[in-house]
Amino acid sequence: MPITRRHFDALIIGAGGAGLNAALRLATADARVAVVSKVFPTRSHTVAAQGGVNAALANVLPDNWHWHMFDTVKGSDYLGDQDAIEYMCREAIPTVYELEHAGVPFSRIDNGKIYQRAFGGQSQNFGGPQAARTCAAADRTGHAILHTLYQQNIRARTHFFDEYFAVDLIRDQEGAVVGALVMEIESGEPLLIESKTTLLATGGCGQVFRTTSNAHINTGDGMAMALRIGVPLMDMEFYQFHPTGIAGKGMLITEGVRGEGGYLVNKEGERFMERYAPNAKDLASRDVVARAIVTEVKEGRGCGPQRDHVMLKLDHLGEEVIAKRLPGIRESARIFAGVDPVEEPIPVFPTAHYVMGGIPTDRFGRVVSPVGSGPEEVVPGLYAAGECACVSVHGANRLGGNSLLDILVFGRAAGIDIMDYLRENRHHRPMDETAVEKAVARLTRWEKKGEGISVRELRDEFRKSMEDHAGVFRTEEVMTEGVDRLKAIRAKLADVRLKDQSAVFNTARVEALELENLIDVGMSIALSALARKESRGAHSRPDYPKRDDQSWLKHSLYTQEGDRMDYKPVRSKPLTVETFPPKERVY
Ligand SMILES: Cc1cc2nc3c(=O)[nH]c(=O)nc-3n(C[C@H](O)[C@H](O)[C@H](O)COP(=O)(O)OP(=O)(O)OC[C@H]3O[C@@H](n4cnc5c(N)ncnc54)[C@H](O)[C@@H]3O)c2cc1C
Repeated sequence: MPITRRHFDALIIGAGGAGLNAALRLATADARVAVVSKVFPTRSHTVAAQGGVNAALANVLPDNWHWHMFDTVKGSDYLGDQDAIEYMCREAIPTVYELEHAGVPFSRIDNGKIYQRAFGGQSQNFGGPQAARTCAAADRTGHAILHTLYQQNIRARTHFFDEYFAVDLIRDQEGAVVGALVMEIESGEPLLIESKTTLLATGGCGQVFRTTSNAHINTGDGMAMALRIGVPLMDMEFYQFHPTGIAGKGMLITEGVRGEGGYLVNKEGERFMERYAPNAKDLASRDVVARAIVTEVKEGRGCGPQRDHVMLKLDHLGEEVIAKRLPGIRESARIFAGVDPVEEPIPVFPTAHYVMGGIPTDRFGRVVSPVGSGPEEVVPGLYAAGECACVSVHGANRLGGNSLLDILVFGRAAGIDIMDYLRENRHHRPMDETAVEKAVARLTRWEKKGEGISVRELRDEFRKSMEDHAGVFRTEEVMTEGVDRLKAIRAKLADVRLKDQSAVFNTARVEALELENLIDVGMSIALSALARKESRGAHSRPDYPKRDDQSWLKHSLYTQEGDRMDYKPVRSKPLTVETFPPKERVY
């Protein structure tokens, strides 16, 4: 049966902050834009962002974008590209005002200006006293932003395909991307969207780990789609573990709690961060705090009967501050940890949170990829933005509040560049029917049920392996064993057994497609991590404890074919200011 086809100027896969900000740009410029999302748009993970978005507005303490840029470069452990970082930190200021004017209900200070809280890794004057740079709507900032962007898109008549699952990109013989095959989840019907440009905005991949702050939908689909058309993934070894997930559960307790004055204690009641980061203490960078917590637990100073977590204390802040600034946190702590933070501390342990790596792009959102073994080139018609992309502004470690910023700034930049591309490329390229057949085959493959292990069991086995072998501390031995396990898991996938009830058949098929994506992305993390023989940012190797700029100040690129690793230089030259040269990173 022939597949239904639809035509658009721009196809956006993903309706989080990145996808919706790009769509808004395009729809208001009268482009025909389609947004595909596997969940209803306002259920995208952006909705869960709590703490806020960074911009040097200087509403609460002195600030400017140069300091923000310095902190971001330092936070990245010097692996971030400084042209993109400069662009992001400068654009932060108009971006936040634009959101304010679009209707985001930010919290306010007494003079009516936007409220800003302190977050980890923020400083005044290039490494001096703590700054307050994170613009917040209580502890529900992502919710406020996503709903506003969605409403603005409805007004601009963006075309939404809600609850459609993107299966694969279609790339023609010349290497251009000409659209994607998607599936309506309810009916299981395939739909081919032919598009002059395609933007991947599919978010993160936290579900590769067993304990995570991410939603069930964060399965790295866009990254896996990029891998399958031959685009490598960049810097995938850099995965952020957020220090304060609810112990044993993984749900996030925002860094904003520490920004408001909360702090961590071990079983002796000691405020241990003073030993690890004498100046910044609990507001040191996330990688530093996560390692400190794991070390406290390993050395027997953890809390609880199993000694397997530490405590986050905020009862001294008082009920009024908690009710005004952290209402969502109080609710999460009550529901998931059974404690009221007004009275008692919250049990916490690091949780898988954010992927610094992703689909390599330039600062215009264009995907750049080596063609075969040749030099790097822009992939015509293909863009990526948001957590699935790697610009790279976060390098080896992302600062809190910089992801909402990244998705908004580069979502918009991609929208602007797509308009330029459309002006020069007015017609659809012919569809590549061979590529379409290949994508359809991937979909129909899951119509027959295998005889082997169930999707659920294989997924659990995979996520546990990732947690055990690619976690906060990584050694050669642990990682080598992890890669062997992943290869065995990958081999079992071909015969995996789908859930049997026919009523939920399409969701079972989606779960299988997601598992395949998870394993592809997990492999990129494990192999990139095994290859990098140094400790930098979130990638911490007790067997190579030092950062090694001589050999490793470079981005890694993982290509799926042959599980190959390549490397490329860091763009250390900013656009208008002086380079920040690598220094030892202390807080
Ligand atoms: C609990 C939590 C709190 C956070 N708090 C903060 C914070 O305070 N500040 C900050 O800066 N950052 C924060 N972050 C990080 C930040 O929220 C995310 O990195 C960011 O929102 C990602 O946005 P995105 O637009 O890239 O993707 P998402 O918002 O994750 O959206 C992805 C979209 O892609 C769609 N999609 C994915 N795969 C497919 C497919 N195969 N087919 C169709 N559609 C698909 C989904 O349906 C969804 O619409 C937080 C993250 C978490 C998990």
